[in-house]
Amino acid sequence: MADHLRKYETLFTLTPQRMRMIVEAFKEYLELGLEKPKQTVPMIPTFVFGWPSGEEKGDYLAVDLGGTNLRVCLVTLQGDGKFEITQSKYRLTEEQKQEDGQKLFDFCAESLKSFIDNSLMESGQMKDGQKLPLGFTFSYPCSQQRIDHGILIRWTKGFGAANTEGEDVAAMFHSTLEKYQLPVELTALINDTTGTLIASHYVNPQTKIACIFGTGCNAAYMEHVKDIPKMKELNIDENADMAINCEWGAFDSDEHEHLPRTKYDIIVDETSNKPGEQAFEKLISGRYLGEILRLVICELIDEGVLFLGQNTYKLENPYAFDTAFLSLMESDPTDELLMIIGIFSHFFAVETTLAERQFFRALAKLIGRRAARLSACGIAAIVSKMGYLDEGCSVGADGSLYNKYPGFADRIHEGLVDIFGERGRNITTYHAEDGSGVGSAIIAAMTKKRKDAGIH
Ligand code: BGC
Ligand code: MG
Repeated sequence: MADHLRKYETLFTLTPQRMRMIVEAFKEYLELGLEKPKQTVPMIPTFVFGWPSGEEKGDYLAVDLGGTNLRVCLVTLQGDGKFEITQSKYRLTEEQKQEDGQKLFDFCAESLKSFIDNSLMESGQMKDGQKLPLGFTFSYPCSQQRIDHGILIRWTKGFGAANTEGEDVAAMFHSTLEKYQLPVELTALINDTTGTLIASHYVNPQTKIACIFGTGCNAAYMEHVKDIPKMKELNIDENADMAINCEWGAFDSDEHEHLPRTKYDIIVDETSNKPGEQAFEKLISGRYLGEILRLVICELIDEGVLFLGQNTYKLENPYAFDTAFLSLMESDPTDELLMIIGIFSHFFAVETTLAERQFFRALAKLIGRRAARLSACGIAAIVSKMGYLDEGCSVGADGSLYNKYPGFADRIHEGLVDIFGERGRNITTYHAEDGSGVGSAIIAAMTKKRKDAGIH
């Protein structure tokens, strides 16, 4: 096993020098995305202008269509930086992700309807005849001309619902809400990273960047309108700031020149429903890490190195190996690695030796560490482009990997020091406020305030 491990160490380890090269290339992609429309990293203007005041107030609904769940929430902003939230969560099935887009939106509206009727009306949190502003957190790349508009550029995270790409999803959802006669006003279409940026700043004003490391991976930050050349003709106040949804998951998808893709990463890409897209995300996000490890295991089964004489068909199913297993394997506290015994026997009906279990754990570590160090490269690119290194900045981060994968944040921080030296310590990530719910409400409030003041 030791020889094999050495080979994977070489494949999956990122040296500081290599990281710095990635950061340089990354910065160029960010600049290009701001300069011209339709670039690989699209750098989407969100029409969220500047930071919240902290005085945003009132009741707002949010529908959060994420990569794994649908969530509906009522958020009450109290006007003093505090808030309350009531919510319901529904797991999305694989079928729902692939069926017609309109059906998916119908499901969102039906869930919202039952939340309003059965939960909010019952408890008196909402009254008959009352109409509430709604933020729609739709965490896929959409190009926006206004805040309540967004053309879906492409599905990501394994979604493939038909008749949706190229469409204005805000308009689609708006007419669905009308069809169900819901007492809401669709105020804003929001990416989860933008919501996270605003919600995190609301509670921690040091925040300048927000990232999601979950089923998908992305970042948002606040940009000066004057530094977004592609927006020139819109004649927006040059002194304004606007949040940018980077959609950095697409970095290097065109050239495949900068990222250290292994043959396992190439298989993940080619067998995905979107080959050639989201190259960066596919090395980092929770949807793919388990699959990368499974492919390594399958290769060693084929070579006769692992599980000789055992029936391994369960391991041969694509995506059978959940990224949560990597987290568990890395955190197994026992000498015998009993949790790893359990994963392999319970889910895959195979027996493992201690040496194999140590090997699997080491592999998980390589793959998890690479993901965190690449994440650090993305953060470093924004920090370096914006000149935040000396003054320092906080990065609000959220998502299952960031929250649950042991050591993910520490590895990002180590990565930042590898890239920037000691000054890298000026950049710290922290567990962000709920962007898709609370952030969405704050943005709806900010939008309503602008509207009421007659600014568009
Ligand atoms: C999507 C982004 C989203 C990220 C995290 C990516 O796949 O393209 O819009 O922010 O996942 O949810
Ligand atoms: Mg989410």
